[in-house]
Amino acid sequence: MGDVPTSVMWFRRDLRLADNPALRAAVDAGPDGVVPLFVLDRHLFGDAGHPRQAYLGASLRDLSERVDALHVVHGDPVEEIVRVARRAEAATVHVAADHTPYGADRDAKVESALAEHGIALERMGSYYAISPGRVTKGDGTSFKVFTPFYRVWREHGWRDPAPAVRDAPWFSPGGRTHAIPEVSADADLPAAGEAAARRRWRTFLTDDVRDYAKARDLPGHDRTSRMSVHLKWGEIHPRTLLADLGTSEGEEAYRRELAFREFYADVLLQRPDSAWNYYDQTFEHMQYDEPGADLDAWKAGRTGIPIVDAGMRQLLGEGWMHNRVRMIVASFLVKDLHLEWQHGARHFAEHLVDFDLASNQHGWQWVAGCGTDAAPYFRVFNPTTQGKKFDPDGTYVRRWVTELADVPASTVHEPWRMDEPPAGYPPPLVDHADERREALRRYEAMRERS
Ligand code: FAD
Repeated sequence: MGDVPTSVMWFRRDLRLADNPALRAAVDAGPDGVVPLFVLDRHLFGDAGHPRQAYLGASLRDLSERVDALHVVHGDPVEEIVRVARRAEAATVHVAADHTPYGADRDAKVESALAEHGIALERMGSYYAISPGRVTKGDGTSFKVFTPFYRVWREHGWRDPAPAVRDAPWFSPGGRTHAIPEVSADADLPAAGEAAARRRWRTFLTDDVRDYAKARDLPGHDRTSRMSVHLKWGEIHPRTLLADLGTSEGEEAYRRELAFREFYADVLLQRPDSAWNYYDQTFEHMQYDEPGADLDAWKAGRTGIPIVDAGMRQLLGEGWMHNRVRMIVASFLVKDLHLEWQHGARHFAEHLVDFDLASNQHGWQWVAGCGTDAAPYFRVFNPTTQGKKFDPDGTYVRRWVTELADVPASTVHEPWRMDEPPAGYPPPLVDHADERREALRRYEAMRERS
């Protein structure tokens, strides 16, 4: 491209043109050409199950249309980014900062490989309203408890959404490229892409945010925003959502949930080991069972506990699960089946389209009682009581557990009480009262040992 500067915009979890400071910086740095690049990194793409791969493919196709053909390459980002940047004769490569353990390490390696060729990696913005690590106590240390984090997070505030990039001088440096993968998934996935994210957000704002504080716990009503998948891929930025929120009860409650996402990213930054290890290491010494047929029944939604099975089938059917039900199924795995939380987290990681390392691992650790600010271990969810409370008429259970489609509300959460339980639906895998006692026994034994 001669003497006129060019740049590379390396898209990762920011598949949008609006409110994208890194992209703005790429355009400013490359008035004669910006390469819109995506690297299909085996480490991340290979670990995702088909639903997430399919969704990502759809989102990349949407982005590709907006940037006059996305330059897609497969392989190791360290090699690929250097190759593309050199070919494009770019002086800079632009990204939003990634704070996950793998992402931060990868970016440091890319940065030093680029530096060998005199090319700079420029980080601008992050996937959060306030970048992880910025919200601290007065003495500069990080928060371990959500409520004070939330207070300081709100006081800190965030910038207004950045204006959308309208016409960037996109160009392709040529050379080896790959097609965006076409992956089919059995799951029923939502529409992907920036426009779909905005549509979904506007619908939620118009129809549901007002009642969010009350309705968010009722899986049968399906009144949550479903923004997690769009946030996961950065099709919309949380700043854009926050800018639209007022101070009604529902809007306050929604802002608080967005802050949980930011809190967990902060915790993971402070404790990268907590991605797969116990945040509270005392729990390493608890007695756990070996995974076997029980874990398979849980994964397949065949535990015989209707609300658990409905959740697990929703996960397989939609690549998403309602938050209240995520808590119920997670509690069941850890406290009724006595399995380590990582078994469940791994299954979620495979199937969730919105899989987010920080929110998932810390959601699991919270339920398992070993996370930051965790629910006390001895508060064991009774799945049947939870089902009756949050799905009182059984709408959610009947939607996903078709064997129970004709069971009345009075017994839909306890089909084993019927004179003739529906054929084909399994009896309960465990007796909750017994397993609760056993969970508490193991907990006490752990405390005595530590
Ligand atoms: P809404 O209720 O509309 O919430 C709005 C947004 O707030 C969400 O999109 C999400 O970004 C954020 N949010 C809400 N609740 C939480 C929470 N408890 N923790 C962190 N952020 C939250 N969320 C993920 O995005 N990815 C995951 O992999 C994930 N795994 C989870 C695993 C377990 C065991 C648990 C208990 C929770 C997990 N969550 C995860 C959090 C939560 O369940 C989802 O964010 C939520 O169900 C997504 O649906 P929604 O967008 O309709 O949520």
